[in-house]
Amino acid sequence: MKTLRTIGEVREAIDPAKRIGLVPTMGALHDGHLSLLRAARADCEVVVLSLFVNPAQFDLNEDLARYPRTEEQDARLAEREGVDFLFAPEPGELYPEGFATWVDVEETGAEGKARPGHFRGVATVCLKLFNIVRPHVAYFGQKDAQQAAVLRRLVRDLDLPLELRVLPTVRDVDGLALSSRNAYLSSEERARALALPRALEAGKAAHARGDDPVAVAQAALNGLQPDYVELVDVGGATLLASAARIGATRLIDNVVLEGELR
Ligand code: AMP
Repeated sequence: MKTLRTIGEVREAIDPAKRIGLVPTMGALHDGHLSLLRAARADCEVVVLSLFVNPAQFDLNEDLARYPRTEEQDARLAEREGVDFLFAPEPGELYPEGFATWVDVEETGAEGKARPGHFRGVATVCLKLFNIVRPHVAYFGQKDAQQAAVLRRLVRDLDLPLELRVLPTVRDVDGLALSSRNAYLSSEERARALALPRALEAGKAAHARGDDPVAVAQAALNGLQPDYVELVDVGGATLLASAARIGATRLIDNVVLEGELR
């Protein structure tokens, strides 16, 4: 595996004639990220993992400096998954002085409303990564389903020549969705955080018997303060999605109610 730091190095190293798979991440890799790498490895000739803690997608009240950074360990895990190229640029490489162009998908979903500016940062950095790496396929996780919906819109609206694949959420044995932000939780908070997947499962069961999944999930989120609980349509599926704060940490999760994610 080769580590690349600059756009020039990527252009030189990666052969655009090959089938290229890109897995964009902010690092601090866990099994959720690894499932995306495995799918890319199975589908593509060249697998590129990007590691970039994107300053543009952090809210003012979320500490960018505090986000976990574990590049050495990430590189070891990536190597083990057969990644060909690790693209880990410095912020100045992607946002040079005078940077002034943003992509704003006019997204009205609950996550976009709860985090103003967040998806503008995500869409901009992903468009840049797509232009730099020029993947045939880019891989994203269902855990961030509303992000996937925004990116599908971006690809469709700007006629980008790539396919997006959204893969199922990987969970801990007790049901908590894996997230780099789980590292912020104390053990007491981690135990309380389980109410989030449990509430979503309760909502799913309610939906299956014809009851209102949103109302049931909301009632089951006892103790957690949800930013929202809502239905989201993404890639052929209807999901029940929620974001909730546990202490200073904000977690998101969702379950499929109907259809199948593509
Ligand atoms: P992040 O590093 O948090 O920006 O995530 C990078 C990619 O990994 C995104 O496409 C996420 O949706 C995906 N991802 C994060 N957590 C999980 C998970 N538990 N299962 C599957 N994919 C995930």
